[in-house]
Amino acid sequence: MSDNEDMPGSSQLTVCVTGASGFIAGQTIRELLARGFKVRGTVRGVVDDSQYAYLKQLPGADEKLALVQADLTQPGSFNTAIADCDYVIHAASPYLLESKKPQEEMVDPAVNGTLNVLQACANASSVKRVVLTSSLAAITDEPDDQHVFTETDWNSKSSLTRNAYFYSKALAEQATWRFMREQLRTFDVVALNPCMVIGESIGPGLNSSNQVIRDLLSGTYPGVMALNFCMVDVCDVARAHVLALDKDEAEGRYICFSEAMTMDEIVDFLGEAGYSNYRLPRRDMSAGWISSVVKLLSYAQPSGAGDFIRSHLGKTMRISNAKICAELGMEFRPVRETLVDTVEDLIRQGHLHKPDA
Ligand code: NAP
Repeated sequence: MSDNEDMPGSSQLTVCVTGASGFIAGQTIRELLARGFKVRGTVRGVVDDSQYAYLKQLPGADEKLALVQADLTQPGSFNTAIADCDYVIHAASPYLLESKKPQEEMVDPAVNGTLNVLQACANASSVKRVVLTSSLAAITDEPDDQHVFTETDWNSKSSLTRNAYFYSKALAEQATWRFMREQLRTFDVVALNPCMVIGESIGPGLNSSNQVIRDLLSGTYPGVMALNFCMVDVCDVARAHVLALDKDEAEGRYICFSEAMTMDEIVDFLGEAGYSNYRLPRRDMSAGWISSVVKLLSYAQPSGAGDFIRSHLGKTMRISNAKICAELGMEFRPVRETLVDTVEDLIRQGHLHKPDA
């Protein structure tokens, strides 16, 4: 099927997308509208607020997009949005790199909010499938040089005091599968587990994962560390959501991953791609003894960054995207193209300023 071709009967189908204002949800809504679906997006704010104008300007939104207010922390909040929908894409979840109150700010909204959404789906007998935007964070929070991670792996290491965002995603996905085992239901669930999602943003906000690329170009990093990043294009993640929703045979979890690059490779590539006059890190901090010092210094960093450095430094993440390619027919965009798009988008949206000549 070509990208703009409507799915059979899709114009009759309504998809509720939770967290419509988000980075992944925005591209997913664009993809759904392009394929002829009606979309009901949930937002936390007032639906007519100008902050959501970018969604209302999407092609097809005039006729096919409606926004409804809903909050993950309010029981029953999603009932109205989900009533009569054929599918639900549950993308809303706090994606924060830092939090002083991880239980209240991340775990409770992620877990209780997901159960709240699933209960609303159970109440609405029209829902056939829920696509859950889970994360690689639910698979692992620590690379392992000896192991290729697949959909059979579960992150059991994170906690409130270690990679709390990862913890919230693992608990929310576990709660989903438990709900599906224990409740009488009329729909099924497919989970997507994307790694770090980067690329073009529909909204003006700066997503936490694009921020990593912005920080790389704006002098935030003191040097090039022994880190590797597993990346995927946001438009591929959006397409995967629509495939997961539409393919009857889709089942279980799907890792969504294009390519991994080391920090060193990303910095070299961005320099060669025309961004060498930005404040890319220059100092090599990848040697073993420097990594030990960096790990010690990481305790002085905000907890999210510090945890990430300690669990990832010096290790190579290996993950397999074989299941999603074989079963959903996904093909992923080369990450170097996505990196260039991301930088251009950061500049266009005013998140990255051109260096003085
Ligand atoms: P995002 O841009 O920060 O979007 C998160 C969305 O969740 C926003 O729409 C936000 O609404 C909404 N939300 C947060 N708390 C809420 C609450 N209490 N009630 C209702 N809505 C709430 O992040 P994203 O990257 O698009 O993430 C979307 C999903 O993908 C999340 O589940 C995330 O865990 C997952 N994911 C992201 C990545 C990545 O690299 N970006 C990778 C794997 C998985 P507001 O606009 O009102 O804050």
